[in-house]
Amino acid sequence: MKAVTKRIYICLILVVAMIAGMLVYLTRYFKDGDEWVSFPVNRHAYSDGVIALGEITDRNGIVLAEMSRDGITYNENLLIRKSTLHAVGDVEGNIGTGAKEYFATELMGYNPVTGVYSVSDKGNRIELTLDAEVNSKVLAAFEGRKGAAFLYNYKNGEVICMVSSPAFDPENPPETEQLSEERYEGVYINRCISSTFTPGSIFKTATLAAAISEIPDLFEIRFNCEGSIDVDGEIVNCNGVHGEIGIEEAFEKSCNVAFAELSLMLGESVISRSAERAGLTKRMYMSKIPVAVGSYQMPKDKGDLAWSGIGQYKDLVNPIAMARFMGAIANKGKAVNPKIISSVKSNIGVPLYPGYYFSKSERLLNSNVADEILKLMINNVKTGYKNYYGFGSVEGLAAKSGTAETLDGERPHAWFTGVIADDDNPYAFAVIVENAGWGLEQAGRVASVMIEAVIE
Ligand SMILES: [Zn+2]
Repeated sequence: MKAVTKRIYICLILVVAMIAGMLVYLTRYFKDGDEWVSFPVNRHAYSDGVIALGEITDRNGIVLAEMSRDGITYNENLLIRKSTLHAVGDVEGNIGTGAKEYFATELMGYNPVTGVYSVSDKGNRIELTLDAEVNSKVLAAFEGRKGAAFLYNYKNGEVICMVSSPAFDPENPPETEQLSEERYEGVYINRCISSTFTPGSIFKTATLAAAISEIPDLFEIRFNCEGSIDVDGEIVNCNGVHGEIGIEEAFEKSCNVAFAELSLMLGESVISRSAERAGLTKRMYMSKIPVAVGSYQMPKDKGDLAWSGIGQYKDLVNPIAMARFMGAIANKGKAVNPKIISSVKSNIGVPLYPGYYFSKSERLLNSNVADEILKLMINNVKTGYKNYYGFGSVEGLAAKSGTAETLDGERPHAWFTGVIADDDNPYAFAVIVENAGWGLEQAGRVASVMIEAVIE
């Protein structure tokens, strides 16, 4: 009798252990199953370590890349291949933020009930929000120079243009030894997503936001620019001699003397908070992809403080974050997060992953502050930029140029950032051309190509 009882206990222990084991397995299966499937040794989904399922298109259905067991087929047009390279990804998977890598699970169509072959053995179709034609024109406008151009719809979050230069033809990738060459330097980095740069005068928009909130008589103040200002022994030079001016003209002329004085009035804590509220120094995501975070370092003395509000010192910003801030300015202070995925569908057209269809929004500015900045940015175009590249004829265009001195002693980075306050064309953008010189002239030209292509 004793032996029977003992056997029953042993059986019970075994049953309990089995049930526990199955529970652990099922939990992990549902939780991590997609990762097991997208593990590169899975021969159903990968061929020679390269994803072998799915298709990536632009917003108009132009196929950018098609993955199969025979390899990847990119678009037949060279300029489309190059200009969408960073958004799509290269064959080897060196561009980590490319859709092919970042959304491998969505491309394979894994689901925990039926596995990879849920609907077919072809995988899913990801439609990006990008316009391949616009991207092509913008990459060409870089003329081989390095930089980033980003434009998105600030009402619904759709990214229309995301170009990173230099790029290469994914069907003819550079050899390892070529990567140290100037024309391939940092070629695997998507500069829109993963880089931060010295902003120069485009940062004055964040300083202006702080000034409008914190200085009640801002619009009555008269600044006096004699071409430079001595701040505790640090000479802050201006780009001209502007004489006695108000804030509107100081912003339009991008007067360093006026903005040095504003920075001293505001102090580092207020400027830092303004940059953070603007989303320039805070983590953000674009369709789950983390975007590089800019920074505002606390200055050590008054001279550094003056430069920090002018977008120099150690300030850094990311182009996507900057474009989002611009979007908030035209959108009553509310920023819609950019998204790069328009839809994920099975290959017979069934919509999947509903989470990608919506964009979160966040308030970056009070509505009245946003409106005041917008007015001044529209004035920049109407008074200052109107004769450049047809900017004067773009309905609702509001912008700020920047020429950012860099520490490497090379030519400054050229910036042009802004927003179109027009319900028919609700676009916000940021363009940087590295070491290219004067912002309005160099980045302005690339921006004008982008704006014209999008409005078309
Ligand atoms: Zn000045």
